[in-house]
Amino acid sequence: MTQYHETILVVEDDVQIRNFIVFALKSEGFSCITAGNAQTALKKLVSEQIDMVLLDLGLPDVDGMEVIRKVREWSELPILVVSARDQDKEKAAALDAGADDYLTKPFSATELLARIRVALRHLYRSALPKTQAVCQVGELVLDMEKHAAFMEEQPLHLTPMEFSLMSLFMKNPGKVLTTSYIIREIWGNGYGTDTQALRTLMAGLRRKVEKTPANPQYLFTEVGVGYRLRDV
Ligand code: CA
Repeated sequence: MTQYHETILVVEDDVQIRNFIVFALKSEGFSCITAGNAQTALKKLVSEQIDMVLLDLGLPDVDGMEVIRKVREWSELPILVVSARDQDKEKAAALDAGADDYLTKPFSATELLARIRVALRHLYRSALPKTQAVCQVGELVLDMEKHAAFMEEQPLHLTPMEFSLMSLFMKNPGKVLTTSYIIREIWGNGYGTDTQALRTLMAGLRRKVEKTPANPQYLFTEVGVGYRLRDV
């Protein structure tokens, strides 16, 4: 098993949950720095060498959402939101404020580590000099230069809009993309929040990519938040 060496800042005021997270992370080789409130978290972010942040949204002093905005003023550090609030609106708001992903309590150590792996992979991928011309997730292959898509080596005939949407997912495998983020990326800023157009586009894409669109193996719906392409 891979042993990690990154340092993760765990921002959580609930001591039991914090201990559980730290235990799970240390068992995989991660180093942990902890903070029980937003003020301490922001101080440690400045004074310590940190690779990633695990952030509880419900903190005793400042709302976690505010921490995301502050961090994003100066850093692209991966932020994984851990929250007891399972309201879809808050998950989407956290992602739109700049968080990379979220976990809803209660969660297992396995789920936690899977999300961390995805976030770290994105961190290292974004450090690469340029994006790859050919991307692959499972049996799905996208050739960005030739604008061609393949499933199990068979060509998929995607419309230009479907191809744009698929490339957006391929650049972010395993990562949840919010509806508003996708709309902004595909249609541009002035389009507003017409989710019907996106739903129609997604349905068309799923019909081509999925064997059984009602039971997707590639493009998953994150109810009330957005969509996620599988990780590998
Ligand atoms: Ca809390």
